[in-house]
Amino acid sequence: MAIKDNSRKPRQFQIGNLVLTLSGLLLLTNIFLPGILGPSISRVPYSMFINQVGNGTVERASVSQEEIRYQLKPAEGEEVGQVFSTTPIFDLELPKRLEANGVEFAAPTPPKNRWFTTLLGWVVPPLIFVAIFQFFAARQGGGLGGGGRGALSFTRSKAKLYVEGDDTKTTFADVAGVEEAKVELEEVVEFLKSPQRFLKIGARIPKGVLLVGPPGTGKTLMAKAVAGEAGVPFFSISGSEFVELFVGAGAARVRDLFEQAKKQAPCIIFIDELDAIGKSRASGPFAGGNDEREQTLNQLLTEMDGFAVGDATVIVLAATNRPETLDQALLRPGRFDRQVLVDRPDLSGREEILNIYARKVKLDEAVDLHQIAARTPGFAGADLANLVNEAALLAARTQRESVAQADFNEAIERVVAGLEKKSRVLNETEKTIVAYHEVGHALVGALMPGGSKVAKISIIPRGMAALGYTLQMPTEDRFLMSEAELHGQIATLLGGRAAEEIIFGSVTTGAANDLQRATELAERMVMTYGMSKVLGPLAYEKGGQNNFLGQEGMGNPRRMVSEETAKAIDGEVKGIVEAARDQARSILKNNRDLLEAIAKQILETEVIEGEKLQELLKQAALPDSIPALA
Ligand code: ADP
Ligand code: MG
Ligand code: ZN
Repeated sequence: MAIKDNSRKPRQFQIGNLVLTLSGLLLLTNIFLPGILGPSISRVPYSMFINQVGNGTVERASVSQEEIRYQLKPAEGEEVGQVFSTTPIFDLELPKRLEANGVEFAAPTPPKNRWFTTLLGWVVPPLIFVAIFQFFAARQGGGLGGGGRGALSFTRSKAKLYVEGDDTKTTFADVAGVEEAKVELEEVVEFLKSPQRFLKIGARIPKGVLLVGPPGTGKTLMAKAVAGEAGVPFFSISGSEFVELFVGAGAARVRDLFEQAKKQAPCIIFIDELDAIGKSRASGPFAGGNDEREQTLNQLLTEMDGFAVGDATVIVLAATNRPETLDQALLRPGRFDRQVLVDRPDLSGREEILNIYARKVKLDEAVDLHQIAARTPGFAGADLANLVNEAALLAARTQRESVAQADFNEAIERVVAGLEKKSRVLNETEKTIVAYHEVGHALVGALMPGGSKVAKISIIPRGMAALGYTLQMPTEDRFLMSEAELHGQIATLLGGRAAEEIIFGSVTTGAANDLQRATELAERMVMTYGMSKVLGPLAYEKGGQNNFLGQEGMGNPRRMVSEETAKAIDGEVKGIVEAARDQARSILKNNRDLLEAIAKQILETEVIEGEKLQELLKQAALPDSIPALA
């Protein structure tokens, strides 16, 4: 997409003028300053002056607050007396004394060019400062690729203008899996193409459309597609670019951006990452904090209110992944009153997105994109684009002509579990422990509800912390979880540690992450989902912190609860986790032979997956009675 610099030139002349004026002033200063200071006169102490007055040798004196300048009576052979100066002390007797000794005295005539001195004092330093400042501003502007921009343009909008008729332009065909959002934005395109059609009926064209959704779902891409489809100028700027440099610059930028846009109407202004400027002014840990951001936000609000709908079609698109942090004022009617959810794609959406990117690589005939889509719930558009690229890289690395299904599977694993770390070498004992631990997870996961299909067990270290891992592949998108499934997940998480206990009679540090996740799940069951009989269907977590998709934010604060309730919560959480551990134990005890068999096998091969794994897991059996839930 071609980017055209849209800033105007005339400002450049201003720096020219300024430099000229400045050097002119300096010249004047050089001419006049010596006149002001006059020829040098020798200074004497005040006491000497008083002595000379007393001696009667002083002819006349000019007395001011800062200085006394006096002339002696001409000595023999002199035409005029010598002139001295001294700094006066506070001396009320002085006039009397001068009079008594017949000295002619007066206050000095005010220098004619004093106003000029004052002017210089006030004007020159700021001018010098401005000149230095501009020198740097100009350098910075140039360095950031704003080539040819005037030095004064630091407050100018850095908005980039995407021009229509570009051959690489983005269209709606490049976006998939977000059909509802597409429909809404197609309407925006219609507004821009033929505003009259809407105005004739009396329909109000929306001013602001806010794209809301998790990162990587294609918000920026969609905005570009709107520009591409509508064929109108498209000013794009990121919220984070507003809040840099100097106080006041952000607001000036907003003003300038709207000014430029209005001249080009109909057009689109796109503000990416709106939350960078639009954070709520009222709340947050830095309440009352960032003046600069607040000014920028206020300016944005003013501008959005300022242009009347109808006379110029400027539509403001904005994107954010944190709408809950936005200032309410932004969401009021007349501002971003339209909100379009750009969500993570569902199964068919993922397949469509994979299709878009698969077209760009050479695929093996056997590749089943539907199956890949099925294995990647929760992936956003950006993840899928990345996945296809990873798979292509893997194929290229092994000198193959096309990308195979296996490449995709490996790529999914990379994204989900991180890169294999062959360098982290485990000793034999550790390897054995990890093997039993992972098989423990797999067996419990295979038998309990809620776990997805166990697809692979590996004792090759991967990612940041995992020494081994059990990969469970979901078979479908899940939006709800039953209580039984949650219990099953917790039991699966504890399966690793339970296996260590049963086989070795002791535990290692390897289960830390499992315990963490199990505890969190149990806590959420009690505090958020109301799944505890003792505590009832109450939400003990303070709401309102959840983001728009219902995912919990980090560390939701507890509602104010009595001490007994707090105790009861802790008791319930502990009860759930312990019950899950007992279940995991009883399952593993019941399948101890299988546990050992699979662990031995994995110690040889390091990895078990596919058919072979399914055959083995099929032999697992639930015990006749499983410990009851808490
Ligand atoms: P966001 O702005 O929502 O964080 P982006 O629009 O920057 O996400 O997406 C990053 C990249 O991921 C895009 O350039 C595009 O290649 C790919 N992508 C994301 N969502 C989609 C989608 N729905 N369809 C096609 N490609 C997508
Ligand atoms: Mg973006
Ligand atoms: Zn584990």
